Parts: sequence; C-alpha cells; structure tokens
Amino acid sequence: MTSGVPSDPDAAFVRVNDVAKIYDTGKTTIEAIAKADFEVAKGQFVAVLGPSGCGKSTLLMMCAGLESITTGTIMIAGQPMRGPRTSVGVMFQDSMLLPWKNVLENVLFPIRILRRPRSEYIDRAHALIELVGLTGFEDKRPHELSGGMRQRVAICRALIYDPDILLMDEPFSALDAITRDEMNDALLDIWQRYTKTALFVTHSIREAVLLADRVLVMTNRPSTIIEDVTIPFVRPRTNEISETPEFMQICSYLRSLIEQGHGRGRQNPGTRATVRKSRVVQGTGR
Ligand code: ADP
Ligand code: MG
Repeated sequence: MTSGVPSDPDAAFVRVNDVAKIYDTGKTTIEAIAKADFEVAKGQFVAVLGPSGCGKSTLLMMCAGLESITTGTIMIAGQPMRGPRTSVGVMFQDSMLLPWKNVLENVLFPIRILRRPRSEYIDRAHALIELVGLTGFEDKRPHELSGGMRQRVAICRALIYDPDILLMDEPFSALDAITRDEMNDALLDIWQRYTKTALFVTHSIREAVLLADRVLVMTNRPSTIIEDVTIPFVRPRTNEISETPEFMQICSYLRSLIEQGHGRGRQNPGTRATVRKSRVVQGTGR
C-alpha cells in the first residue's frame, strides 16, 4: 500500500468542494448537509458511511447530477455535475427494473432510452450477464428472479455504458444477510475485473470496510464528514477478511465514531496509521 497526496493533480477524479444542501419544501427548510469536502482518486472505491437520515443519498444524488447543489461544487472527470451523464452509472436500493421487460432488455434499457444502436451493446450486455452469473436467465422477467438476482441485473444495467464511475446507494441493504454477502463478493469480483471509480453509500460498517479503499464517515444531520479512514486490506479481497482481528478493530473504531456523531480527536486503536485526513489517498494495494 502506498499513500500520500498524488503528484498528478488530475488523479482526483471526483472533487466535492464545500458542498452544502438545504431542502426547501416551501413550508420549511431542511439542512441536510452542512459541509462535504473530499476527493476520490481515479480507480478508488470510496464508501460513505453514516446513520439513517444523515444525507448520504442526498450526497450521492448530487454527485449523480440528479439533485441540485445548494452551495459548493462537484466535479467529475474535470466537469461540473449539473445533470445525469452516461459516464456515471447509478444503482439504488431498489433494482428499479421494468417489470414487463426481461433481463436482457432491462440491461439494454439505457441504450434504448438514448437511442443508441443496440447491436453495438448486445455483446457487452451478454458479457455482463455472464459476469454476474445470470447466463440462462436472459429471458426471465424481474418477478421470476430473487432480490439478489434483480440487483445483479441492476449492476449490469449500470455498467452497460462502461461508465467511468459507479455511484451506489445502499444497493444491497434490502437483501437478507446471506444474499448480501454473496452480492458483496460479486461486487468485489466485478471490481477486480473492471476497476472503476466508485462511491458506495451504506449504513453497514462491515460492508464499507469489506468493499472500500476509504471510508468517509458522516455525522448526523446537518452532516459533515468527520473522518476519512483508509482501509488497508489488499485486493483481491473476499468476505473472509471480515473474520480477522484487524477488520473487527477497524469496524469497532468506525462504530464508535458513528455512535458519537463526532469523532474529532479520537485515536484509532491499533490502526492509527490507516486513518488519514488527506483528501486523496492513492494506490491501495490493488
Ligand atoms: P440518508 O440517505 O442518509 O438516509 P437522505 O439524504 O435521504 O439521508 O436525507 C437527508 C435528510 O434530508 C433527511 O432529513 C430527509 O428527510 C431530507 N430529505 C431528503 N430528500 C428530501 C427532499 N426531496 N425534500 C425534503 N427533504 C428531504
Ligand atoms: Mg438514503
């Protein structure tokens, strides 16, 4: 593992600069995010961890160009995010598949929306379906699939354009524990083959530590990012690392941060070297 501010300034693929979000419902205003300020290097997998209602989805939706930014800027690949882009793939807790379309057509649906030539994407669609273990299910409709299978289809749909970045909002949180483990393994596997830059929102500490190169910890609303923790495990990773003492130690440290809602000044027991406040940390042993 190497660390430190990269010498190449373009290495920061995502730049979230002093972003705040206030919802104005007409009757009342809700300060969701007081300040978010971080960068993500190209190829990094960053988890955003925080309690329910702290503004994780809001932050992700602003990064996806699906929610307006009240103040501050978000740049992805050097361009300000002002609306959805095909270079940004998005996944939600609900697979949001079209119930009347089969697996293959759901994976190809973004192509249809943008009226791109289907023939140019069909091989990629089949390759993605194979990658997530759904070969043979191309003709099935969503109601014929399990929750985990539907999220596998959603991953394929998010990757059909070969986006530069994948934004995921608690994509596995509605699944049972065993399926969730399987999906985490599937995502690690996909990650190892097609490294993308990723922002992954979760309220599961274990999931964040298992998947991410860095974990950004958010406070309660109006939220800020209180810690930027580098996860030291080399890749390829599997679920088995979650049995190690180091893994458990990092989880317990993150839990203490979240429980307090503020963690400034606390020491990271035994993993102090892995906790970084630097805005970009590169080279995570992949
Ligand atoms: P999380 O994803 O961390 O659970 P959210 O980003 O969904 O949190 O919500 C953060 C806060 O903003 C919550 O208090 C929520 O009620 C509020 N909020 C989210 N979306 C809207 C909206 N469209 N209008 C008004 N308030 C909203
Ligand atoms: Mg949410």
